[in-house]
Amino acid sequence: MKKIGVLTSGGDAPGMNAAVRSVVRSAIYRGVEVYGIYHGYKGLITGNIKKLEVSDVGDIVQRGGTILYTARCEEFKTEEGRAIAIEQLKKFGIEGLVVIGGDGSFMGGVKLTQLGFPTIGIPGTIDNDIPGTDFTLGFDTALNTIIDAIDKIRDTATSHERRFIIEVMGRGCGDLAMWSGLADGAESILIPETKEDLNTIVERLNRGIERGKRHNIIIVAEGVGSADEVAKAIKAKTNMDTRVTVLGHVQRGGAPTAFDRVLAARMGNKAVDLLLNGEKGKMIGIQDNKIVAHNILDLLTKKHEFNDELYKLAKVLSI
Ligand code: ADP
Repeated sequence: MKKIGVLTSGGDAPGMNAAVRSVVRSAIYRGVEVYGIYHGYKGLITGNIKKLEVSDVGDIVQRGGTILYTARCEEFKTEEGRAIAIEQLKKFGIEGLVVIGGDGSFMGGVKLTQLGFPTIGIPGTIDNDIPGTDFTLGFDTALNTIIDAIDKIRDTATSHERRFIIEVMGRGCGDLAMWSGLADGAESILIPETKEDLNTIVERLNRGIERGKRHNIIIVAEGVGSADEVAKAIKAKTNMDTRVTVLGHVQRGGAPTAFDRVLAARMGNKAVDLLLNGEKGKMIGIQDNKIVAHNILDLLTKKHEFNDELYKLAKVLSI
């Protein structure tokens, strides 16, 4: 294999740039040319493809977002769209592709692999909702952004003796809420993976008040519902007022943490290794601090593993 492509697709995540850099430099180091495909699968169809040199990926390791831009592309979901994409790849002589994105983007990659075009996926999403990896690229950075925000909210919660409900991202996955709740000593964490209901939260609130506690932090994963709904339900049950903060898109941006940069370096290098060894249809992951690869089709029926131990620990520490 003498020429490979790289694209970022789906939601952006900090660490994508560091992964692009790693793919480009790992390939060039092995004598392989790399082509950047801009705007995800859309760029593959329109031919928005440029050769990347070592210096093109300089000074990006620390930058959030993605220099290749990202997009969602409905046309790529059609056979006709994918046929055009294959033509473009052939035109540029690209023989293999690294896709940095979420599970939707990997499905696109699998379809290309089935058409005889080898593709390897790198999980890039802050949500940590991908099976076959302990961590996705961007999760650690988003987590640090969240705890930075919660630390600040806690200052005012303590000073004003107020109860705060903070909504964090994660789509259907509660990891951002659970990890940030544990890291920040939140009193309650509402996540989609568990059955903890409002009654339990209210009991905790009341227990705290009996102990003389006047401030409280409740973290709600967006997969459970909105923080506003939780605030209304608490008001209806207890007549207590709460303040709502929805952290929103600040969670997606910012310079990647050292963890995400190192993860990106390792995953990018492994993706190139696999392609050059003739592998295809696989996603890179990190499990027990080892870089691994799984068949994407095997992951389809699986869900990201929920860390019950951490959840229980968060509960123990927030008695
Ligand atoms: P994510 O990768 O973050 O899960 P999406 O689900 O929006 O994001 O997928 C990103 C892009 O991947 C889509 O816009 C589309 O171009 C492509 N894609 C997603 N699912 C498929 C599929 N089943 N077949 C082909 N392409 C797909």
